[in-house]
Amino acid sequence: MAVSYKELGLVNTKEMFAKAVKGGYAIPAFNFNTMEQMQAIVQAAVKQKSPVIMQVSKGARNYANGTILRYMAQGAVEYAKELGCANPQIVLHLDHGDSFELCKDCIDNGFSSVMIDGSALPYEDNIALTKKVVEYAHAHDVTVEAELGVLAGVEDEVQAEESHYTKPEEVIDFATRTGCDSLAISIGTSHGAYKFKPEQCTRDPKTGKLVPPPLAFDVLHAIEKKLPGFPIVLHGSSSVPQDEVDTINAHGGKLPDAVGIPEEQLREASKSAVCKINIDSDSRLAMTAAIRKYFDEHPEHFDPRQYLKPARENMQKMYEHKIVDVLGSNNKL
Ligand SMILES: [Zn+2]
Repeated sequence: MAVSYKELGLVNTKEMFAKAVKGGYAIPAFNFNTMEQMQAIVQAAVKQKSPVIMQVSKGARNYANGTILRYMAQGAVEYAKELGCANPQIVLHLDHGDSFELCKDCIDNGFSSVMIDGSALPYEDNIALTKKVVEYAHAHDVTVEAELGVLAGVEDEVQAEESHYTKPEEVIDFATRTGCDSLAISIGTSHGAYKFKPEQCTRDPKTGKLVPPPLAFDVLHAIEKKLPGFPIVLHGSSSVPQDEVDTINAHGGKLPDAVGIPEEQLREASKSAVCKINIDSDSRLAMTAAIRKYFDEHPEHFDPRQYLKPARENMQKMYEHKIVDVLGSNNKL
């Protein structure tokens, strides 16, 4: 049975993006698959009075089940109210939809926003597919994110060897002909916890850690000039905090040379037309670091609540840090 996101208390991205672009901040888009991630996201958003996008990929839907995720999103809204937020602004968004059928299924099942990722297709095919999704979505008051340009890295089914920056000369034609509500662009961010190969980076002589190449702000500014005020999205924008990586490695993990996007650059991007920043790996790292440390320190414990509680607290701390210190979306409700 079809259900509209409005019945679940969710909102689409239209108003929150318009405010974010005007206000010079970005909305956090956190991926989730588990109850603990959902709780941590809601607690952080309520505490910092931030709108928030909870997003799920096709892989997350397969892992957690679409019906369960729908009701978890509804639960997130009710939980936010219970925590004292009178008017929570929560979006349930499909990350990297790869077909019209998947997007339609999400729209029919309570999603308030979908991404159709036709970025691997030839240009005209990307336009045709995106336009088809936009027509169905807009008939249901659901917003659509599209993508132009290719990001490198691995995220569920999304894989690309090489990245191709978005071509600023294409964005007006693409946005106009598809009618999309926001556009994910490629300016050097990348999926996963290994965003750059060591040969793409320099090494800090003091710490021996990798220093990644800077984002292509010239491309971002050229796109903003072509589409003033149009909502821009950055994927693959985890920072891969070295303290979490070090904790994981100190407690039996093996993540050599994991590297992300420096937070100063994301802070700068948030002040521009970039109004949605996707963060997934940092949540995975925060959860894994806390669990590994706990297991190491309490080998006699086996109740999942014992190790999932510090994992949840560590994720909440990370989410609040992103909201306040990187995206600037705090105190916006
Ligand atoms: Zn992505």
